Amino acid sequence: MIMIARVTLEIALRKEFDYLIPPELAGQVEVGSWVKVPFGARQVFGCVTALVETSPCAKLRPLLRVVGRRSLMTPRVLELARWIAGYYCCHVETAIKSVLPEAVRREEEGWRERLFVRALPVSGPLPKLSKRQAEIHGIIGERKEMPLQELLRMTGTTSETVRRLEARGLVTVAAQVSERDPYAHEVILPTSPLVLNPEQRQAIDAITRALDTSRDGARHAPFLLHGVTGSGKTEVYLQAIARALALGLGAIVLVPEISLTPQTVERFKARFCSGRLQTLVAVLHSHLSVGERHDEWHKIRQGRARIVIGARSAIFAPVEPLGLIIVDEEHEHSYKQEEAPRYHARDVAVVRAQREGAVAVLGSATPSLESYYNARRGKYVLLELPSRVDNQKLPVVRVVDLCREYRGDKGIPILSNLLREAVTRRLERKEQVILFLNRRGYATSLQCPRCGYVANCPNCSVALTYHRSRQQLLCHICGHQKPAPTACPEASCRNPAIRYAGLGTQRVEETLRRVFPRAQIQRMDSDVLKRKEDYRRILGDFRTGKIDILLGTQMIAKGLHFPNVTLVGIIHADLTLHVPDFRSAERTFQLLTQVSGRAGRGDVEGEVIVQSFTPYHPAIQYAKRHDFVNFYEQEIEFRTQLKYPPISRIALLTLKGRNQDKVKFTAAHVKRELDSALAGFKDAVLAGPAPAPLLRAETLYRHQIMLRTRQLAKASALLAEIIDRLSLPEEVTLTVDIDPVNLT
Ligand code: ADP
Ligand code: ZN
Repeated sequence: MIMIARVTLEIALRKEFDYLIPPELAGQVEVGSWVKVPFGARQVFGCVTALVETSPCAKLRPLLRVVGRRSLMTPRVLELARWIAGYYCCHVETAIKSVLPEAVRREEEGWRERLFVRALPVSGPLPKLSKRQAEIHGIIGERKEMPLQELLRMTGTTSETVRRLEARGLVTVAAQVSERDPYAHEVILPTSPLVLNPEQRQAIDAITRALDTSRDGARHAPFLLHGVTGSGKTEVYLQAIARALALGLGAIVLVPEISLTPQTVERFKARFCSGRLQTLVAVLHSHLSVGERHDEWHKIRQGRARIVIGARSAIFAPVEPLGLIIVDEEHEHSYKQEEAPRYHARDVAVVRAQREGAVAVLGSATPSLESYYNARRGKYVLLELPSRVDNQKLPVVRVVDLCREYRGDKGIPILSNLLREAVTRRLERKEQVILFLNRRGYATSLQCPRCGYVANCPNCSVALTYHRSRQQLLCHICGHQKPAPTACPEASCRNPAIRYAGLGTQRVEETLRRVFPRAQIQRMDSDVLKRKEDYRRILGDFRTGKIDILLGTQMIAKGLHFPNVTLVGIIHADLTLHVPDFRSAERTFQLLTQVSGRAGRGDVEGEVIVQSFTPYHPAIQYAKRHDFVNFYEQEIEFRTQLKYPPISRIALLTLKGRNQDKVKFTAAHVKRELDSALAGFKDAVLAGPAPAPLLRAETLYRHQIMLRTRQLAKASALLAEIIDRLSLPEEVTLTVDIDPVNLT
């Protein structure tokens, strides 16, 4: 007779605690149940991780209550949380918090109940009613059932009238769960499968075979679906999901937050809103209200929604049994969580699929070096869609050498002659243009040409960005802001001719308005988007042709599909190229390819113009030729020489504190500990400690140590031990980032 629950508490204590299951809760507590327990004088929440018969502890207190009717965590998701804690070097309770959304963990959050009016069958003649009552009764009778509020709004009547009908036994008014549906206002028209082209056919056949046999317990290597933009990857996903559903299995689809547009969601809903495979499609992303998230999650837990589409954390959705995990745009860095647990959703997807016998499909037009390397080594199965659907041509890419355009006195060129003429031509033909610059604001820095003064952030080691519309200098790291000065602030200088160096989207917008005064121009970056509807509204206006030129940051680079866009211009391709990160070339290649993919998705062939100060850089040249494979070949060569991922794996340790000497000293101490602990790792390379590329952020100094090894899973366990053992000075913190994507 099991009477004891072992509980991991929400508050991080790195320890589990035993509680008695009181008789009145017997049978309600399972592994994965979310419970409230006494802890000292407090009451805290936790997750039941085991049920046991005996406890080493003598005096156990009873647990207080169980949240929700069923266990919130499936045993499989709980296991996954444990794996995350182990591999990503964090506490189990941190991992558990991440896999179970707060909307679900919170006790107060529940289903929303609303009053519904329902018509009752009338036996015999209708009692005598006033004209108004009869009218209302008629409406309810027609609808059979409707929310009370809706009835009141519709008819302008009072609840008093409705209560009178209730008293006469004609209707009932009762509370019912009313689901909050974030897509309630959308009209979804069903679609049916398209006829696949031979490459799509080949891909879906391979995935189908894997799905069919996985049901019998066979394990499958993940698939890497490398398909150029517009090659019909989404159609392959949809048909793979259909197959999984037909086999009685559910599916998770991960999409980067930024591509999780209503357009995307609709494509999935439309395919499965009717017919034999009909199911709800649950959506999980950060813009949902807490209540919506609660309801979407429970739809999955109850098995009513067999398909989940969502951003990073949707990988933890309690789909059971799980047949398929799709990770679209698998190269995207937003799949990595930048706070503990620092997991990478793509990698968790591969692990989860493997553990649950599900099939993983990673898709991209520009696969990450990691995934392509795995495909080359046979760890993943490569599926290729080399051409666009209907054999539309990939856009012609022209590269402009900005050094030749540079005219000293006028500052940095914004529009080359080629780009200006191309835009003019497209505008004349009533076609649309997308211009891209990966930096918001007006200018990157404020400089005094006389004394050399640069306005820097007082909290971070970066220059402040000038935002002209608000006349402010703004730090893009910590948000610090101050009014822009009208003269050099140096007391000895006071030069009124201060200059703004570097480009931001606001400055490009200004130039565009001057050069193309009659065009409708819209800027889209996080400064413009204040409310969640803005994004939709702007894209809607662009779609309906109210905007001629859309100018934006990486926000507009992804997945958008506008048939009338025939020209894409990249204002400065160099911005991502010269950051201190071994992935900068990869990132630039991906960005250029993705942005180019927005051109020519309709009948007219697309054109892309890339402006750059380093036009012969391989990342730019290979992107120009749409040549991923050769880019990969030369990039992997570089990674091999320097033993960078995917050849090895990285653990990045960052020490942070207000006092730089203390941080430096502690970093050196940690390094010594690592040196001796990792002596047995033959391939381990330890670099640093060294100041982080971003030395100071939000008032904290940062020093880093980088570990590179092929045996990172083993090293993670060691790191966890060392961190546990180390006693760091107060005011210095240590974070460990396994497989980091951000090295600054
Ligand atoms: P990707 O996801 O690779 O960028 P999509 O799946 O969005 O490409 O496909 C681009 C367009 O082509 C979509 O409008 C889609 O409906 C259409 N499409 C996909 N597959 C086919 C097909 N086999 N026949 C006709 N149209 C297709
Ligand atoms: Zn700052």
